[in-house]
Amino acid sequence: MEYDDEDLKILELINRGVKTFRDIKNILKVKNDALEKTLGILDQSQMIKTNIGTGLLGQKKINLELTDAGKEKIEEEIKFLTQKWQEMLDLAIAGERETLDQMIVEHPKLVNVMVFFGITDLPTLSRLNLRFLLEGKHLCYKCKKELGRFSQKFSVSDVRKFNFKLPRGMTTRDDLCADCFNKLPPAGMEK
Ligand SMILES: [Zn+2]
Repeated sequence: MEYDDEDLKILELINRGVKTFRDIKNILKVKNDALEKTLGILDQSQMIKTNIGTGLLGQKKINLELTDAGKEKIEEEIKFLTQKWQEMLDLAIAGERETLDQMIVEHPKLVNVMVFFGITDLPTLSRLNLRFLLEGKHLCYKCKKELGRFSQKFSVSDVRKFNFKLPRGMTTRDDLCADCFNKLPPAGMEK
């Protein structure tokens, strides 16, 4: 049985002791029917079990728990993510940006899932200049400010066109914000 990123996140939340439908829904901001469907799948494949508790007002409350198989699945996933992260670190250190990019094309949410599982975190990604690996994040290559859909963006070809000095390590996939672009020194100054 293959689980997608969202299934695994739900499993991990239950692993952390988030027990109720409502709490999972609030944390992940998922729709009722999507969550119902995933819990159904996890229940059917015996990753989770339920027990009936009593709420504060005496109402019945369904508590979610991992089964042993569910706990194993989480351990497996953590092992997989830790290995992948190590691989990505090695690639980053070796400057293999294209291989990194390819990994993200194949599994767009990989790094987001790593952050969710606590395998890596945002400060680490920023320090290593790897925040671009987060899905849905497009950041200025220099200052790491988020570039929205309507922000001005400047690419490698803009830098060349204006004869500015290209920031070290910047690739055609990266963009600069207007502030950073305007502060670039002219090319060839240091020669
Ligand atoms: Zn910037």
